[in-house]
Amino acid sequence: ATNLVRVYPGRRRLIGKAAPVRAVAGVTLRVMPGEVLGIVGESGSGKSTLGRMLLGIDPADGGEVRFDGNPMPRLGTSEWRALRARMQLVYQDPLAALDRRLTIARQIGEPLEIHNIVPREHQQARIDELMDAVGLRKDQGDRYPHELSGGQRQRVVIARALASRPKLLVCDEPVSALDVSIQAQVVNMLRDLQERNRIAMVFISHDLKVVRNIADRVAVMYLGRIVEEASSDVVFKAPQHPYTKALVSSVPVPGKTLEGRMILQGEPPNPANPPSGCVFHPRCPFAFDLCRTTVPTLRHTGPDRTAACHLVPGDAEPVAA
Ligand code: SF4
Ligand code: MG
Repeated sequence: ATNLVRVYPGRRRLIGKAAPVRAVAGVTLRVMPGEVLGIVGESGSGKSTLGRMLLGIDPADGGEVRFDGNPMPRLGTSEWRALRARMQLVYQDPLAALDRRLTIARQIGEPLEIHNIVPREHQQARIDELMDAVGLRKDQGDRYPHELSGGQRQRVVIARALASRPKLLVCDEPVSALDVSIQAQVVNMLRDLQERNRIAMVFISHDLKVVRNIADRVAVMYLGRIVEEASSDVVFKAPQHPYTKALVSSVPVPGKTLEGRMILQGEPPNPANPPSGCVFHPRCPFAFDLCRTTVPTLRHTGPDRTAACHLVPGDAEPVAA
């Protein structure tokens, strides 16, 4: 994905003209087969919009999404529908994703039929296999979504997403609605399935603890922009961008005191009216004059890592124009 931009029309106001909202403003990223890219940021940072743009569900107003090296076809075209089987989305609310009138076996089997993936006589075997892969028992197949727990329902959604053997799986807050005790189980299962099937996964979450457990690389988003990207270890152990530092230090570490923690003040600004210069400057404890006037561009700041901050030394050339 190169330099993606998505502008939402501004909400109607009583007085004056609403400004367009840039939900995603110039984001470039890539995810390889077998890799998990975590996308973190506060709510409203554009994470979900970005996830949907990667699948072609939300069109980009600028820039380009490539899948397997080819440009993403337009939403709704037969090319897009054919590709859609290879790209799946799992989001927060499994009940909304499922049809409450159909048994879970039917719903897991649906993609097999729609995309003609396995011959009819082998469909039941494949449904059993998928249920087993996500830790559901065969005899649960004739249950309905409301007869299952939240965690089991999300397992059904994941089984259905895997039915078409996707190459890309975008998970948007997939465990945020689940009990904390269940979250780790589902995350471990996702990681296991992703590794075994060499799926490229984009894992979107506001919860850094969860992302740390699953992501190989992490991109940090603030107000529609990526402000830092690196391997998961590097982001959590040695963050460079002040926003990342604040996010990381807000995660409690057992045995560590609050001393030296950087507390994030205030709320993210309104994306319809982003601050001048560095959009993080109103909340940044290190902000200086340049930050208020000049946008810091994303640059390589070390081997295989990028950041967008005037205080972090980087390459002369920005990452993407
Ligand atoms: Fe803070 Fe300035 Fe860096 Fe933005 S560019 S994160 S305001 S120091
Ligand atoms: Mg979201």
